[in-house]
Amino acid sequence: MRNVILVSLDTTRADRLSCYGHFRRTSPHLDRVAEEGVLFTDFFSPHIPTFPGHTTMMTGKDIYAHQITGQSGTPEPIEGVRMLAELLKEQGYFTAAADNLGRWFARGFDLIEGYGWSTSSSCAWRKGEAVAQAALKVINAAAAQDRPFFLFLHFWDPHTPYLPPPPFDRMFYAGDEKDPENRSMDVLWEFEAFKWYFREWMPGVTDVEFPKAQYDASIAYMDACFAHILTRLDELGLSGDTLLAITADHGEELDEHGHWFDHHGLYDTNLHIPLILRCPAELPTGTRIGGLTNMLDLTPTILDFLGLGDIAQREKMLGTSLLPLIHSPASAARGTTDFLHITENTWMKKRGLRTHEWKLIVPLETPDLHGNSEVELYHLTDDPGELRNVASERPEIVAWLERLNAEWLAQRLAATGLPDPLPIQPIPLRRIGNMEAAVPRDKKLLDEREKPVEETHTVPADEKLEAGDFVGYDREEE
Ligand SMILES: [Zn+2]
Repeated sequence: MRNVILVSLDTTRADRLSCYGHFRRTSPHLDRVAEEGVLFTDFFSPHIPTFPGHTTMMTGKDIYAHQITGQSGTPEPIEGVRMLAELLKEQGYFTAAADNLGRWFARGFDLIEGYGWSTSSSCAWRKGEAVAQAALKVINAAAAQDRPFFLFLHFWDPHTPYLPPPPFDRMFYAGDEKDPENRSMDVLWEFEAFKWYFREWMPGVTDVEFPKAQYDASIAYMDACFAHILTRLDELGLSGDTLLAITADHGEELDEHGHWFDHHGLYDTNLHIPLILRCPAELPTGTRIGGLTNMLDLTPTILDFLGLGDIAQREKMLGTSLLPLIHSPASAARGTTDFLHITENTWMKKRGLRTHEWKLIVPLETPDLHGNSEVELYHLTDDPGELRNVASERPEIVAWLERLNAEWLAQRLAATGLPDPLPIQPIPLRRIGNMEAAVPRDKKLLDEREKPVEETHTVPADEKLEAGDFVGYDREEE
């Protein structure tokens, strides 16, 4: 009997986990899982942010097939798009989730345990403990079944605001985060779109290294909470033959590219995510797999693991099972694709293409949130940080990648028979500026929320910006 537990670590970028080489020991328990399983070194989320990321994760389909490009736009994935839980429930699996996404993400689950935490900006947010508590209920319910199970567990800790509880809050930072001599946050305090949010979250902070350390601390706290789940699976004797698949919907910008503490931008900071698969009875241990792989491959991999690979074909999933890469490492160097078509509909709308060597980013609406209108090209081999735009120096590469992208888009639109959703759907109306917008809204929690301090600039979560609007509807009506 084979079981599956899919874990999404929202907003966790691969390179901040110690098993992916981060200089801080952020993830000792996840590192252990990686040692007991298979880690994919070059795994990417092609469609950001959270909604398209998770929809792709759970359907094996891209935005052209499921039509979810951002946090708003279409209310539901189009008819006929089926979630992994629906497919497995139909096969007789017990399906349960510890999650608060709701909407179509709830489809197909027999049981959903929600969770909540205090969202006062003046206290630590104990997200990981709340999620772990819900997850343990779900695991216990699954263990009591006499049929195989599929579980989805969704952690949120490294999502802003980074407010990990003690002792994690001081784990990676020993300085004075409000040192008046430190000017490293000055540029953030001048960034109009986010400064009010930053002021509410971290008033008076002057050292940009502090929120960066808090991001890592949030991962360390989440990792400690996750350890309880590993222990419970061991206690129940489920660790050996359960596929544990750990990933993220997208990463995070910390202090790169002039973007701070959010996940907009098609840079690898946001696209490069972890994937760890563990099932000691079936998969090798201590294995690292290279080659370009991505979120579209995850649901086909899970179905293949369960002996249900024909469902991936029947549902016309776009990705490819990763199991052949695991079992014949010689093929792993190539991954599952030569290039990845990437999109975002966050605070900006962009499209691009990533190969092993190059990254092309093309804005759909200009200027973007940061006042930029340029096409960007990065030579990833020489410049993995994507810091030097070489589009004007290498027009032939831009032309080649633009052609590949156009051909891919035309092929996808022909295959789906659906419109290109990206130009049609608006940039999300939700705006940064209050704590409510930083996590999916939970009414019960908001009731507990403290009144914002007088200085803060709070607006309803769905209110549009008036000036310098980056909301799609308005721009398209011009
Ligand atoms: Zn997310």
